[in-house]
Amino acid sequence: MADAPRKSRLVSEVDFNKDGKQTGFIRLFHSTHDSAYGFLPIPIVVVKNGEGPTALFTSGNHGDEYEGQVALTNLAKSLDPVRIKGRVIILTMANYPAALVGRRVSPIDDLHLNRIFPGDPDGTVTRQIAHYIDSELIPLADFVMDLHSGGSSLNYVPCALATQSNDPALFQKQLAALRAFGAPFTYIQGGAQGQGGNQTLGSGAERRGKIALGSELGGCGTVNPAGLAIAERGVRNVLVHLGILPTSDWVEPPSPTRFLDVRGQDYYVYAPENGVFEPLVQLGDTVAIGTPAARIHFTETPWLPPVEIAFKAAGIVMCQRIPARTKRGDCLFHLASDLKIT
Ligand code: CA
Repeated sequence: MADAPRKSRLVSEVDFNKDGKQTGFIRLFHSTHDSAYGFLPIPIVVVKNGEGPTALFTSGNHGDEYEGQVALTNLAKSLDPVRIKGRVIILTMANYPAALVGRRVSPIDDLHLNRIFPGDPDGTVTRQIAHYIDSELIPLADFVMDLHSGGSSLNYVPCALATQSNDPALFQKQLAALRAFGAPFTYIQGGAQGQGGNQTLGSGAERRGKIALGSELGGCGTVNPAGLAIAERGVRNVLVHLGILPTSDWVEPPSPTRFLDVRGQDYYVYAPENGVFEPLVQLGDTVAIGTPAARIHFTETPWLPPVEIAFKAAGIVMCQRIPARTKRGDCLFHLASDLKIT
């Protein structure tokens, strides 16, 4: 006889099946020197009214990415249960310990929530969070959107994204939802090459056959106002698209989204040496193969010439490293190029 699936130890203060707006915490019991019987309070908001689809929105998966956290905090306050049909579940600080201190990974176990799905109910704190989201929240949802930005070390042209589903019908649903989200740019990544592979929250959602979307709304460990505005309009438009909010709430994006493709390792520029990174292009620039991308300066050996790196592909500069001090292997840029959607 197969072992029964192991259950999450986390306890929800909210009832996902009750109509109305409920706010509270997911309790993750964590016994420490300072708090022997205490729990980590992961904030959650559930808004439900009758029958209809369920949308799950998450942010703070990386704790140093803020546009999504602010957009979902505002969404949580603005949703009126009498105006919706279905259910919206909002997790503003998915990796609560990391979000509390504004770091990409957890200060408790040093784990990266978006690289450990489907998690482990008996693992350390971050593994337990991944397992709860994967086994308790995602199964409730028809649609899952995990809002990201570049974090402390990267900055992005605000955009939405999806990892292309292998299921053509599900991919069409991803595209329709991305058009509704209406970011100026949207990039599609292949399953194998996506950063994080199959251990991300989004891949957990896709394994369960859900419409899974992501975003990169800015970065630098700040709130990018343009990225925030895109997210605020986008999450509401997606709810209209799903039939959860009324069509009168639709706000037309200024232009249809431009679909882009990130085709492989040639789209990424990495530091070839340790040194000081001087960018030679700006976010949003269009570059060709051979366009100079960056210089790495050797300030410890100022008699040596800098190394200049060129782009190996053509496209739009979507992402740039922020800190100037860099080590061999750091990602300095990534590109995306136009994608024809058939
Ligand atoms: Ca991120």
